[in-house]
Amino acid sequence: MPVASDIADIGSDAPPDAAALPVNEVFYSLQGEGTLAGTPSVFVRISGCNLRCWFCDSYHTSWEPTGAWLSIDEIVDEVASFEAAEHVVLTGGEPMMYEESVGLLDELAEQGYHTTVETNGTIYRDAQIDLASISPKLTSSTPTAERDPKGEGEWAERHEQRRIDVDALADLVDAYESQLKFVVTGVDDMPEIEDVVEQVRAAAETTVSNDEVLLMPEGMTREALDARRNAVAELAMEYGYRYTPRLHVDLWNDAPGT
Ligand code: SF4
Repeated sequence: MPVASDIADIGSDAPPDAAALPVNEVFYSLQGEGTLAGTPSVFVRISGCNLRCWFCDSYHTSWEPTGAWLSIDEIVDEVASFEAAEHVVLTGGEPMMYEESVGLLDELAEQGYHTTVETNGTIYRDAQIDLASISPKLTSSTPTAERDPKGEGEWAERHEQRRIDVDALADLVDAYESQLKFVVTGVDDMPEIEDVVEQVRAAAETTVSNDEVLLMPEGMTREALDARRNAVAELAMEYGYRYTPRLHVDLWNDAPGT
């Protein structure tokens, strides 16, 4: 059975000759998650992902990728139009799928921006990254037939095979200031989180401290977060990890462009 390509199929637009990336949106907001939560940032959301989490909060970069090919210069110009911004978040989708992300990060560093890359941690690239925000995906993310938003279940096996790459995780942790950010659906996720953290600690040369392990409640609406955030906060205290909010959901209910 054919499956959708990893690479964003964003219509008939062919990539231009210049180095380019498929961009879903560029917008200015507050970083909602992680150790820089609350920091004004320009978000560059890249289209295309090598995974298919059933709860993906950027559906139009993964399950149905949309956007337009922009050259690196066009992206940097768009970022610069938000004059107050000093932080840029390269997110997706999975921005590390594309070699061109390295060139974009080089240019952003040259312009003096602090950069965060939000990644699922399955691909390592040598790039100018100030903070690698790594979100390893747990078993609970797998789009089984019952959970697949398209109801087809065709991605379950591929997602399951790809979602954890300990070598890539260790390389990212060793190369960059980083945080391991887990989307938590409930207490049943904790043994797997402990196991992934231990595997990364064993494989990496860098020490991964507990306050670099972040627990974030799953939930794309305020109502969903209301039902889960306190339980996840309690788990953070019990295990000694850091809790992270989802400010963009709390403030704006995850509306597009937030
Ligand atoms: S890895 Fe991230 S962008 Fe990709 S499907 Fe999962 S949540 Fe969506």
